[in-house]
Parts: sequence; structure tokens; C-alpha cells
Amino acid sequence: MLNKSFKFVISIVVVFAFSSLSAAELSKERINQVLKEAYSKYKGDVGGKNADYIKALDIVDSKIFGITIVDKDGNIYETGDTAQVVSIQSISKVFTAALVMSEKGSKFVQEKIGVNATGAAFNSIIAIEQHGGSASNPFVNAGAIQSTSWVSAKDSTERWAKISANMSAYAGRNLTLNKPVYKSEVNDNKRNQAISKLLDAYGRMGSDPLEATTVYTKQCSLNVSSHDLAVMAATLANHGVNPVTNARVISAKYTPKIMAIMATSGLYDNAGDWLYDTGAPAKSGVGGGIIAIIPGEFGIAVVSPPLDSYGNSVRAQLAIKYIINELDLNPYAQ
Ligand code: GLN
Repeated sequence: MLNKSFKFVISIVVVFAFSSLSAAELSKERINQVLKEAYSKYKGDVGGKNADYIKALDIVDSKIFGITIVDKDGNIYETGDTAQVVSIQSISKVFTAALVMSEKGSKFVQEKIGVNATGAAFNSIIAIEQHGGSASNPFVNAGAIQSTSWVSAKDSTERWAKISANMSAYAGRNLTLNKPVYKSEVNDNKRNQAISKLLDAYGRMGSDPLEATTVYTKQCSLNVSSHDLAVMAATLANHGVNPVTNARVISAKYTPKIMAIMATSGLYDNAGDWLYDTGAPAKSGVGGGIIAIIPGEFGIAVVSPPLDSYGNSVRAQLAIKYIINELDLNPYAQ
């Protein structure tokens, strides 16, 4: 009898010794250590180049490199240029889609915008035609302009106010507009205007297409740091409650839906490789930011402007992959 229970205790100890630590058991020291390793490992990486199709992005300091992790209890781990702001760009698409979902429900987003990967570039026009006039998902430009158009408001001023207040609630502070980036893109967004007109022809827009494109361009121009982005990501990880302000920003029933779209479409036509390497829903922006979510545990964000050919930050991908793999955070491995 004694022998039996002794064996049981031994086997429990063995199981614990050989299984990886769960996210909850990770020490603060270990998280900080891995974060610093990621920073020093990739700080000197010179791969990729700043987006230049939006002229104001080309002159942003390519050396900016900030890494922040926020856990579900609001603890913050960060290193590098974590207060340095860049324009949020496509990462904004996540939060405006979430706002539309809150207002109109998840079925609406699925049916009116779509939740499938396009397998094409983020600003593809041909993808719309190939999918019967559908944007396919809210994280390519077409679907994002559509999301913006569907935020209920009496006019575009009110729509912008709601969209910026929504993103500020996720960040836990008042986010402000990067005026040079906005001016640079709004004068040069003819391709997005064309996309919005095409979607309008297919009856997919909720408000005037060109007005929606302008508001969309503005939402892409909000300034955020890696610190802001990690708080925003952690709010989704924490079932819709901002872990720093403790304010509920979105119903918990919608966060898994948002994360599912991030998994399939967050890094555009490179989303499959990303998920294969990390298992983490993520979203990139051409300003150089990437957010990744470890559901129920962490929001991770990196800002570093140079991009690969898909429009995803090179150093942000490297640093996030390193952190997820070193800390055994891949959600599919839990
Ligand atoms: N504002 C950018 C655009 O519409 C956003 C693109 C991105 O970050 N991938 O092209």
C-alpha cells in the first residue's frame, strides 16, 4: 500500500519535472530575461525596409525597436524603445472590426465582410473579384474599409470619434493622430478609394465609400508605442477587460472570434507560416508594429519599422517568435 502511494507521488513529480511550465508558473525574472535576450539578439538585425508607398513612413527611424509584454494581471515587462510611437496602420483593423462585432454581432461580420484568408496581398483588388465581390476578411484593406463604414454613426465625424475612443479604451490612454502620416496617406490613397468604390458596387458598404476610406486612413494614423500595443493585445487576451485600467472594452464572447480572424489573416499571405511557427493569433501593421496574443495569458507587442515583402516587421516577427518559443507559450502546445 505504502509502496503504491510512494510510486504515485514519484510519478507526479516526474510528470511535473518533464512538462514545461504553464504560463501562470513563469517567473517575472524568466520573462524579463527572455525579453532582454530577444532584444539583444535582434537589435542589430538589418533585414527588411520601411514601407515607402506611404511617404511619411519611409522617413521613420528604422532603428526603433521596442518590445513589451503585458500579462492578464496588468504586469508589464518591456525593453528598448517602448515609449517611441509609430502609426498603428493595419493593427487598427482588429479593433474597428471588434467594434463592429460589438455593435452588430459576430454573424454580421462573418456574412457581410467575411472571415476567410485571401491568400493575397493586403491591398489586393483582384482578391475581391475572385471572391464574388467579398473582401474575405476585415484585416485586408478592403474588409477594414468596410468595417469602418459599418460603425454606426450619424456622420463621419461621429464615426471617427467612436473609432478613436474605442482604440484608446483598448490602450488605456488617449491615442493621438500622427498628422504627417495621415496627411501623407490621405493625399495618396487612391488604391484604397478604388477598393471602397468596388465594394460599394457590390453593395457591401455601410456608409459613403470615400468618406469611409478617409476615416479608415485616419484610424491607421493613430500613434502607438509597443507599450500601447501590448496593453491593447492583453485586453483581447484577458477576455475583453483591459488588465491595466480594469475597464471592460468588449464582451468576452467576441474575443475568440477576433483571435480566430487574427490567426487566419493577421499576417496576410504569410499567416500560415506564422501560425506554424508560433501558434499565436497576431496582427501586423506597415508602421512596423506586430501584436500577438497568448489567449488568457499575455499580449505581446513589438515595434520595429523595417518590413519584409508581405508588409510584416522583420524584427518584430523574430523577437515574438523567440519569446513564444523560449517561454513555451505556443497555445497549441498547452
Ligand atoms: N494604411 C495602410 C494602407 O491602407 C495600412 C496597411 C497595412 O498596415 N498593412 O495601405
